[in-house]
Amino acid sequence: MLAKIIDGKSLAASVRATQKSAIDALAARGVRPGLAAILVGNDPASHVYVRNKARACEETGVRSELHAFPDDIAETALLGRLARLNADPLVHGIVVQLPLPRHLDSFRVLAAVSPMKDVDGFHAVNLGALLQGRPGFVPGTPAGVMRLLEHAGVPLAGKNATIVGRSTIVGKPLALLLLQKDATVTICHSKTPDLATIANQADILIAAVGRAKLITAGMVKPGACVIDVGINRLADGRLAGDVDFESVRAVAGSITPVPGGVGPMTVAMLIVNTVRAAELSIGKPVE
Ligand code: NAD
Repeated sequence: MLAKIIDGKSLAASVRATQKSAIDALAARGVRPGLAAILVGNDPASHVYVRNKARACEETGVRSELHAFPDDIAETALLGRLARLNADPLVHGIVVQLPLPRHLDSFRVLAAVSPMKDVDGFHAVNLGALLQGRPGFVPGTPAGVMRLLEHAGVPLAGKNATIVGRSTIVGKPLALLLLQKDATVTICHSKTPDLATIANQADILIAAVGRAKLITAGMVKPGACVIDVGINRLADGRLAGDVDFESVRAVAGSITPVPGGVGPMTVAMLIVNTVRAAELSIGKPVE
């Protein structure tokens, strides 16, 4: 039997719709959530991601503004703009589209975003809160993966969850979130020998690598839930995940497609975080 498809596109639409009442409540208090996006250079993928975020804002009633800079912008100029956005009461969330050009220090730039407006959850304060299990902004992709798992009714407590990829924006925070749900978590990476043997034991297998078709049917435990975070552009222009969808579909119990899986959830969770940042700005208690 073929795996059940976990539809991220429709779940993302319903997550965005649930934000409407919060946005209406904010409007009644004269507040419209605002998101500022920083975009440096001409990376085509970055332009697409920023455009998708702006479209989601528009559809949800969040005000968005784009701060685009040439490739060679000086770091001091970028930090100056961030300081102004931090102080702007109309801006509740700030995202810095990654990757930044090499001459810019990403850590310094991300550290310059106010933790209260860090709706991407990349600031050390928010990542530290996640590590401690305290409230804070959780990065959109891992938060979106957790929502997908919850929506699909995938049990986590006591289950083996294996993440392939150890990035600070996906793999590591996702491991913490899965641990909070009592999964037994394994992180694999580029130096992991015999990925297939480890992956084969996973009840939940999550790929966040950036290599098309890395995960093949032989690596998947029959009935496992497979979440594909990867976004890869194939030579013919099509998008593909890290999972060999057609072959894995015959083995897995459930699976997310690319596109239409994790990607839309990442954007939806950014909207959730931006609305929450607006609520925090008017003193709504932290949950
Ligand atoms: P990254 O490039 O920072 O890290 C890749 C990770 O993969 C590293 O930890 C590396 O050790 C590991 N890796 C590389 N080769 C490997 C191999 N052969 N076997 C096992 N592990 C290997 O990646 P990232 O920023 O986390 O992004 C990963 C993928 O997810 C990319 O395709 C990216 O485009 C995509 N992504 C998607 C979303 C979304 O919303 N769907 C969000 C963020 C990233």
